[in-house]
Amino acid sequence: MKVDLHCHSHFSDGKHAPEFLIQRAIQNQVTHLAITDHDCTAALSQVSDQGSELKLINGVEISCDWKDMEIHIVGLLIDPETEDLRSLLASQQRQRRSRVRAIDEKLQSLGEHGLLPYLHALPCISYTRSHIADFLITQGICHSRQKAFKTHLGRRGKIYVKSAWCSLEQAISTINKAGGIAVIAHPGRYSMTKRKLDTLIDDVISSGGEALEATYANIDHRTKKYLSDLCRTKKLYASVGSDFHDAAAHWTDIGRYPPLDQLTQKNAIWLHPKWHSAMK
Ligand code: AMP
Ligand code: MN
Ligand code: MN
Ligand code: MN
Repeated sequence: MKVDLHCHSHFSDGKHAPEFLIQRAIQNQVTHLAITDHDCTAALSQVSDQGSELKLINGVEISCDWKDMEIHIVGLLIDPETEDLRSLLASQQRQRRSRVRAIDEKLQSLGEHGLLPYLHALPCISYTRSHIADFLITQGICHSRQKAFKTHLGRRGKIYVKSAWCSLEQAISTINKAGGIAVIAHPGRYSMTKRKLDTLIDDVISSGGEALEATYANIDHRTKKYLSDLCRTKKLYASVGSDFHDAAAHWTDIGRYPPLDQLTQKNAIWLHPKWHSAMK
């Protein structure tokens, strides 16, 4: 088994069409793939296994607000047609469009025009700050996405606009209503203390969340060990994913992340009863 339960298509901030992700997964001998676009499930109805053995798993990555921090919750094995999920994602996408308009106003007041036409020419449905970073790069305002986040798009950036995401509880209960499993995405990437992460996990569990990503691209050995231990102490399933966005970023690929250690494999998400019934 080679599993990747986190990646993005061009319907959110990935660079490639869903079919490209499938081909790349097949090339890389991935056996199970979930496309998890930001607040968007448009890719899911567009893909097939292309006659291969690859199993596709319905996924989504929902941005939510928890104690004034932005937390990402991945939903796996969801039914994208569920009314509550559709309406939550529609509202998150509206929120993303209104944030883009507010950022555009800030950019215009700095003398920079053209963000909205730039975005409308993309195949994207869920607009993210990555798209705006790319616009700043094409305009010669920033040299890299990293810089763009630091000087413009991050919390202390010049054109930062706060998003009104749904709550953590709402994201998790909606994923559960859609028949899915709620997973804390990349827990080591939030700048929070171990104590705060502990509180986050407890809140996720009391809201009905059941898993965390115990490994992902570029995770360091210590964080991986820490998250693996948390899976056991908190009795959570361990999910895995590359968070792949772009084949031009050579340090990431579909199916590429440090492997789960043997002990943590006993908590692997593919042992969840919902996974078992979905694969029948
Ligand atoms: P948004 O959902 O609009 O807040 O955009 C978040 C996306 O931007 C994430 O999913 C990442 O792909 C990307 N991102 C966040 N922070 C950074 C950063 N510091 N440098 C580059 N990309 C980032
Ligand atoms: Mn992203
Ligand atoms: Mn994320
Ligand atoms: Mn992601």
